[in-house]
Amino acid sequence: MHPFSLSRADDPAKAIAAHAFDPQLAFVAGGTDLIGLMKDRAALPERLLDINGLPNMARIEALPEGGVRIGALARMSDVAADTEVRRRFPVVAEALLFAASGQLRNMASIGGNIMQRTRCAYFRDEIGCRCNKRNRGSGCAAFHGLNRNHAIFGWSESCVATNPSDLAVALAAMDAIVIVQGKTGERLIPFADFHRLPGSTPERDNVLDRGDLIVAIEVPANVEASASHYLKVRDRASYEFALVSTAAAVEMDGRQIRSARLAMGGVAHKPWRLKPGCAEFRWTTSTGSVQRSLHRSPMPAPSPIMRSKSSLRSALPCVHCKPREHAHERCRTTDLTRRRPAQGGRRCTLHGRYFARRRSSCRNRL
Ligand code: SF4
Repeated sequence: MHPFSLSRADDPAKAIAAHAFDPQLAFVAGGTDLIGLMKDRAALPERLLDINGLPNMARIEALPEGGVRIGALARMSDVAADTEVRRRFPVVAEALLFAASGQLRNMASIGGNIMQRTRCAYFRDEIGCRCNKRNRGSGCAAFHGLNRNHAIFGWSESCVATNPSDLAVALAAMDAIVIVQGKTGERLIPFADFHRLPGSTPERDNVLDRGDLIVAIEVPANVEASASHYLKVRDRASYEFALVSTAAAVEMDGRQIRSARLAMGGVAHKPWRLKPGCAEFRWTTSTGSVQRSLHRSPMPAPSPIMRSKSSLRSALPCVHCKPREHAHERCRTTDLTRRRPAQGGRRCTLHGRYFARRRSSCRNRL
């Protein structure tokens, strides 16, 4: 482990000044991502400044016009269990519950969650592979290497990594605002502009500079939010990063969709917001048309990674294993994710064999 010193901040202005003038200093709150990066030698700060003591940064406030303001130091589990967040923005609560284990959710902060870095195996490799995000100009080992979980939209030849945050996808769909305190005062950054595409500078994940401190995230009220859902496809049923995820919210008029919001995760260097005018997102009248128009939309130009994402069907969780995961989750914390398994969905090998045996023994009895 890289040696470091630890100090505690109690004044935001002093913390911002220290971060602005000391390039070897990093803020730490829950530490659930930063400590891992330090163990992997992907981040080597010499000084950590613990910001957990900064005042009024862990509050979750319901705003009078229907939005919520979530302090950057609020813990994921507290936000997921907050009654106003669950009532006004179910997609945010669901994204948080899908994001990590109970222990991690109890520790990780909201500000840290949207700052977390990619899970690209080459980036996290302690030995130090060719990785432009880690060492600029060293190349991208994932481009022709193991890139099954990598970007299909917005990638560049410098980097094809994806953003791992589930919460960020939900916040992008809700058009949240990141409130940042910096050297020159407070800035409001629309969520769609917070994360960057890799371009030729993949070492930068977002638009923050030295001396910038996220103080809160504001989720404004919108008509679609109360009918929203977060869907995540992953290799195993629990505690796994998304192969593909979607945050969706709709406003209904009887059986017709009047308006909708969609954002995708696990497909780009940033949460991928689908705007109503874009080719992928055309909806007209009936309830099924969002899904149908998504299926019919023209696919983007093939990338080296498109082939590997085409195996997603096989990555869907078994419909018989799935309810057990929810039971497990429910023991740990408030559970919003319990739903009935889809009829006719995929079965894992174990359940496939079990049902095949049952069918054949029924046939023999007849
Ligand atoms: Fe590094 Fe990005 Fe390439 Fe992964 S995809 S090896 S993070 S440059």
